[in-house]
Amino acid sequence: AKSAGRKGYRFYDAAMNAEALARMQLRSRLAKALERGELSLRYQPQVNLATGHIEGVEALMRWTSAELGPVSPAQFIPVAEDSGLIVDMGAWALFEACRQASTWIGMGLPPIKMAVNISVLQFRRGHLDEQVNEALALTGLPAQYLELELTESVLMQEQDKVAATLDRLEALGVGLAIDDFGTGYSSLSYLKRLRVDKLKIDQSFVRDATDSAGAAGIVRAVVQMADALGLSTLAEGVETEAQRDLLIGCGCASAQGYLFAKPLSADELTELLRQHPEQ
Ligand code: C2E
Ligand code: CA
Ligand code: CA
Ligand code: CA
Repeated sequence: AKSAGRKGYRFYDAAMNAEALARMQLRSRLAKALERGELSLRYQPQVNLATGHIEGVEALMRWTSAELGPVSPAQFIPVAEDSGLIVDMGAWALFEACRQASTWIGMGLPPIKMAVNISVLQFRRGHLDEQVNEALALTGLPAQYLELELTESVLMQEQDKVAATLDRLEALGVGLAIDDFGTGYSSLSYLKRLRVDKLKIDQSFVRDATDSAGAAGIVRAVVQMADALGLSTLAEGVETEAQRDLLIGCGCASAQGYLFAKPLSADELTELLRQHPEQ
């Protein structure tokens, strides 16, 4: 039994090393992805549940490595975060998303919001408001069309600093949404103190809401709390009509998910917006 235990341990150890090695390889390739032009953005529509109209899109990063082929965000985003590469990658995504949104407006398409994910590291490194200001100035995108998606982990940083940065972002006129709402560990007290505009209800609650009274209750409570605080709500990961109807019943304002559209290329979204009714 003893030797089997040792063997088991060694096996575990080797597996760990293989995983660590894979991560290191991913990391060294990811470090070159930006300069090699291997990163791109996809845009997933965000739909107004009352009208069915597209009111915005979320920019989602994609990486197609020359050596590895397409790598999923679930794999490369954590590596980007751990290595700090996310800071430059995120700055690139912010600029690219603003450029695309500005291009769409310039084409005379119905104006929509562009939502961009901001990592906690980007926030912590500081000057996010300057970065945002610069992206808007260089691309000509009016601030009202940009929305930043922040996770609760961002809001849990040093309170005074967070409040000051959010105030400066608010002053620029960009929208602020809390991503994956309900999955973090932060207290609710920040909601009334910090200047956020929107809660994105995490897809785990949406997924369970049609089968579980508890999950449905959470969705309903989040929408009611948001209403009371003057915040809007968007449900993530909506895949079925039953989920959509339940969300409408809860008073949720908007939604995003495969039921409406997958993340699309810029060209695909251009086509979709061309067909879009005037709002
Ligand atoms: P997220 O911000 O919560 O983004 C939503 C994720 O849900 C996306 O995964 C999207 O493709 C997926 N999704 C959308 N609709 C549905 C649906 O109906 N069902 C299901 N099951 N999934 C749906 P994706 O694109 O793989 O991105 C994963 C995560 O990677 C994102 O989660 C975000 O945390 C991170 N990420 C992606 N792009 C960026 C970026 O530019 N910067 C940063 N910092 N993080 C990013
Ligand atoms: Ca997001
Ligand atoms: Ca605001
Ligand atoms: Ca999310």
